[in-house]
Amino acid sequence: MAPLLRRLTVRNTHGLMTTPLRFPSRYVAKSTRFLSTTSTLHFAVTSALRTQVFHDVDPLRKYRRDLLLSKRTVGLVPTMGALHEGHLSLVRQAAAENTDVFVTVYVNPTQFGLNEDLASYPKTWEADMAMLSTLDKELASAGAGRVSAVFAPSTKTMYPTLPPDSSIPGAGSFVEIRPLGQLLEGASRPVFFRGVATVCMKLFNICAPDRVYFGQKDIQQTVVIRRLVKDFHLDTEVRIGPTQRQEDGLALSSRNVYLGTRRRTVGLVLSQALRKAEAQYKAGKRRRGDILWPANAHADNLVQEQDGLEPGKRARFEVDYLSLADPDTMEEVEEVDETRGAILSGAVKMLSLEEPADGEELGVGGGQILVRLLDNIVLDPVA
Ligand code: AMP
Repeated sequence: MAPLLRRLTVRNTHGLMTTPLRFPSRYVAKSTRFLSTTSTLHFAVTSALRTQVFHDVDPLRKYRRDLLLSKRTVGLVPTMGALHEGHLSLVRQAAAENTDVFVTVYVNPTQFGLNEDLASYPKTWEADMAMLSTLDKELASAGAGRVSAVFAPSTKTMYPTLPPDSSIPGAGSFVEIRPLGQLLEGASRPVFFRGVATVCMKLFNICAPDRVYFGQKDIQQTVVIRRLVKDFHLDTEVRIGPTQRQEDGLALSSRNVYLGTRRRTVGLVLSQALRKAEAQYKAGKRRRGDILWPANAHADNLVQEQDGLEPGKRARFEVDYLSLADPDTMEEVEEVDETRGAILSGAVKMLSLEEPADGEELGVGGGQILVRLLDNIVLDPVA
């Protein structure tokens, strides 16, 4: 893991800064604001206050209770850190709809399988705090809700009884959403949604948020969270923010730092394939085969094209799935019910580079870390 933690110099919209494992991000302004004049005045008075960082449950609970007694509202944005504009857009949305935003930064071990990238997952605490502080100042001057708390617990705090177990079945107290959590991402990563549902249940219990914010980028996760809130009668509202992308369509992800230029270019195959399928739906096609064939054909062509190149030029990848699924169950559909719409989603595994070329930009990890890319497009119901 040590070589992965080297410092990189990168550019963000505020100029150059040196930070571990960062990559360029875009800032997108959000316009909606629900704050009353009274709240706005209140925040003008308190704008000098800085975000408080909590590591333990009790002080955060006390803080939350005081906010409740002051009739303030809390929007929770759970993250694993390594923040980028996708995360920040959720914070902006939460700040537009609540007086206070809590951001959690916790790399949850139980959602990583035993052979997955827990150890190498990027950790960029200082850069994350700098981004949140900059954003908080922007929110203060806009009169929006503030990033009032960051919760960064230890694993002992989050899993107080047993050390967390990522094996199957795994000893411990877990929340499982079946079969939803076993499909698609869950089929490839069998403990993933158990870990996600469990940690979110814990975070919701600790933070008691009025609203929770999740990105459409991880669409199945949003469906799991909605189900968790519904089935366990959790007293919070689930809000979903749009996927933030780079200009060429690549969805932002904390793991993109591992791609490097060659794999990043070829990795566009996923968003391109999904857009081809979306175009079929927009053209009036409703049957599975009619919608998905151009997406599958595009991916197959690119697999063949890459396989045919020399090892020093190619970036090989495997398509894990291209899915057309029901929006509430994530079960595959044969035909889209246009009163319900559907979810087009996919996952692609970018394999490690076989032969790096001289002077090539390889990304963090020298192009050797497998990168799983996820993306999706919601096919809206037809009115
Ligand atoms: P993570 O830190 O990857 O667990 O993500 C934390 C939250 O940020 C999740 O709700 C993600 O869906 C959301 N998120 C991650 N990437 C993006 C993106 N590109 N656009 C919007 N939301 C995102």
